[in-house]
Amino acid sequence: MGNPISRELFLERARFRFGNQYDYAEIIYKSYKTPVRIRCTTHPVKQISITPEKHLQTTGGCKYCLREMRIASLERELNRASPASRALVKLLDQPLIQQLDQPPIQQPEPQPAPIFHKEK
Ligand SMILES: [Zn+2]
Repeated sequence: MGNPISRELFLERARFRFGNQYDYAEIIYKSYKTPVRIRCTTHPVKQISITPEKHLQTTGGCKYCLREMRIASLERELNRASPASRALVKLLDQPLIQQLDQPPIQQPEPQPAPIFHKEK
């Protein structure tokens, strides 16, 4: 009864699957389905809140690692593709904010009203 997977078993499975990719020092293990806080050792900027179950079923929960994996697999797929497709991958790798950071459309300067010289 109780937890089908204990803290020790979870850590054992997690380390077997991910090696030293994740830091489990700060976890408070309650159950297999209660979120714990882990940290990606490659991207330690943000703690990841994930259930032990999800952690073992997915790539671990680090969105940065997931993104790198997706880009890597996309690049593998496009390995035999045209250079144009590779350029697209590079484009996808750009932060979204840069793509949106286009200069505003220039409005034409209002022309000053023509000055008519008064005849003397
Ligand atoms: Zn990561």
